[in-house]
Amino acid sequence: MIIDTHCHLDDSRYINDIDEVLKRAKEQGVKKFIIPGADPKSLKRAVELSEKYSEIYFAVGVHPYDAFSYSREFLEEYITHNKCVAVGECGLDYYRLPKEKEEKEAEKRLQKEVFIDQIELSKKFKLPLIVHIRDSSSDCFNILQEYSGEMGGVLHCYNADELLLKLVSKNFYYGIGGVLTFKNARKLVNVYPKIPQNRLLLETDAPYLTPHPYRGKRNEPSYTKLVLSKMSELSNIEESSLEDIIYNNSIKLFTKIL
Ligand SMILES: [Zn+2]
Repeated sequence: MIIDTHCHLDDSRYINDIDEVLKRAKEQGVKKFIIPGADPKSLKRAVELSEKYSEIYFAVGVHPYDAFSYSREFLEEYITHNKCVAVGECGLDYYRLPKEKEEKEAEKRLQKEVFIDQIELSKKFKLPLIVHIRDSSSDCFNILQEYSGEMGGVLHCYNADELLLKLVSKNFYYGIGGVLTFKNARKLVNVYPKIPQNRLLLETDAPYLTPHPYRGKRNEPSYTKLVLSKMSELSNIEESSLEDIIYNNSIKLFTKIL
């Protein structure tokens, strides 16, 4: 069984065919789904989906791009819901910072503040973190080293920085998605074998980061199977054994998933 630990099924691109998307996923062995929180506006839809479908879970969080709209009170309204399994996706994303120096520093400060507050939230409610990291490895690393608690979490959008591998000691897992199948994914392909097997997770980040050969089209959870086969090829383990390992990792981290 596979758990897609990161798919934005609350995205408007799935409104018309969510049942077919879930059906195709299940045919590929993808039986459970975690919708990460990103934009507070879509959180209600994620909660509704989790109440309608027993196999869908969600997380509460605010993506660094939406840091300006962060409200801890709003997240706390949903955090004790029985289908809420994590806090995130939170983190730092320096990919499209403002050019002007002062604005740039202000944006970084805001992202850090909102990230640290969500780490505190995860500790208070004893939930793992879903962490988004883009062009910000060393700042993310330092913050997680200093603030993260025993619950650990998953590093999503893992941009193949070896520094982040040190977070294994802080109980962090590594979410592997479509990027591994890209022709230009050399960095991730090189780091991948250094990730301990008991720390691997599968994720699509659907509707984004669609694996080869569907790159450019809308992503969906059924495609995790393509990532799994690439992982199996690179780790030289049979797909079914790797699938079991990853499933066990997923339920070890997301303890609220039944
Ligand atoms: Zn995401």
